[in-house]
Amino acid sequence: MRDLSADRAEDKCGVVGISSDENVASYLYASLRILQHRGQNSAGIAVSSDQETIKAVRGMGLAHEVFNAENLSSLTGRSGIGHVRYPTTGDDMLENVQPLVLSSGVGDVALAHNGDIVNSERLREKLEDEGWAFFSTTDTELVIRMIVNELKDLIDPVKAVRNALKRIEGGYAFTLMIGSKVFGIRDPLGIRPLVLGRIPGGFAVASESVVFEMLGGSLIRDVQPGEIVELTTEDYVSYSAPSLGEKANCMFEYVYFARPDSVIDGRSVFDVRVEVGRMLAKERPVEADVVIPVPDSGRTHAIGFCEESGIPMSEGLMKNRFVERTFILPDQKAREAGVRMKLNPIRSVIKGKRVVIIDDSIVRGTTMRQIVQMVREAGATEVHVRIGCPRIIAPCYYGIDMKTRNQFIATGRTEAEIAKEITADSLGYISIEGLVKAIGSKHAELCLGCVTAEYPTRVPGERMRFQRSIESYSESQIRHEVATRVDARIDS
Ligand code: 5GP
Ligand code: MG
Repeated sequence: MRDLSADRAEDKCGVVGISSDENVASYLYASLRILQHRGQNSAGIAVSSDQETIKAVRGMGLAHEVFNAENLSSLTGRSGIGHVRYPTTGDDMLENVQPLVLSSGVGDVALAHNGDIVNSERLREKLEDEGWAFFSTTDTELVIRMIVNELKDLIDPVKAVRNALKRIEGGYAFTLMIGSKVFGIRDPLGIRPLVLGRIPGGFAVASESVVFEMLGGSLIRDVQPGEIVELTTEDYVSYSAPSLGEKANCMFEYVYFARPDSVIDGRSVFDVRVEVGRMLAKERPVEADVVIPVPDSGRTHAIGFCEESGIPMSEGLMKNRFVERTFILPDQKAREAGVRMKLNPIRSVIKGKRVVIIDDSIVRGTTMRQIVQMVREAGATEVHVRIGCPRIIAPCYYGIDMKTRNQFIATGRTEAEIAKEITADSLGYISIEGLVKAIGSKHAELCLGCVTAEYPTRVPGERMRFQRSIESYSESQIRHEVATRVDARIDS
């Protein structure tokens, strides 16, 4: 199978967009710090100083490494967008740093993107045949160029955006600025999350609801699948696509990616993880003396596991927060050494005990194999592993950093073989149905591509989950193309 994403920039990221009656730069900066877990590779903010001009500051690193009092004060304007970009190896070039800004006939346009466009290569080739030249390899450039191109002939920005979106397939959440107008856009199946909220002085869209809360505002609702929301200081206006009643929310947001204090599609991520832990204890019970979560990704799941099983939890692994993320290190040796640098067992908790280790997920198995060995060396008599995500067996094409089948430890192995591989006495993954139940959604309303190898959109070489093809989807969207302007004015 062709690996669609290996040579492309990944876009698993955090996005935010704000329209306010105050200067927005400091709110955007705070938002990026709140969303920092969604991307540590680069950060950027774009604000519109007047109706037409957009100014951006972007750089490599964490938000607080990129921004300082000086460059933040150079960003004056009442509307803006921000982006944190997820680190993957090989593509950390400044050209890929977002938001991207281009000029158009109706003023500057800026775009921040979370997700992946599945048909971007085909589209790019087509456009190159038509004489377009691209300066980066990102989906983001493709999309912003298509929007700018539509703006040539159309003055209605929403129509222009719709026309551009009609051609793309995949999972995406965009924050977009056209001049000083700010928009939030979510893909037609709601694969990537995007929420709408109130903040002091205005309105915002962001990848996660925790942003509004921490800025002193509140969540209003999720941006609906296929919806375009325009923000103003006094209200927001929703331009809804005709609903097809289909959804495919990414389950990995609940399992790992989002912060537990966020609410996605009406469900608290914390509550879901606790429920996953409970379900895991029911489905895969084990006799043991102590439950040890892998910090920090397994903590919330462990709470539910302990509640259900009655086994006490303890802090058996200490994490050095200042060591870089091992998941993204380029080679296996570096990843293994990284885990050792990051985690250390507490012997007095572990010695002589039957231990259950809980983590959110196993991808390559590097982390868990190291942890099991560490815990055994610290004197555990038995080491059992329980995992809050079903076996990851297939790539994600919508922006999660799980790319090729041969990197997954679960590929071609039974659970017992994986247990052996990570040197555990027993291993239990939550079942797919167990996870679906814990999320509290319907199977058909989740994207489970990485655990079922069935995808909610057409992906070359992969099975598609829905009977309906994305083309028929697009056609029906075209038929209803006149955007239904739903007035969503609310009292402020
Ligand atoms: P593995 O070592 O099996 O390759 O990765 C699993 C570990 O990485 C788990 O501890 C999980 O919390 C974390 N993890 C899973 N998916 C991702 C991801 O997309 N990015 C990062 N940074 N960590 C991940
Ligand atoms: Mg982890």
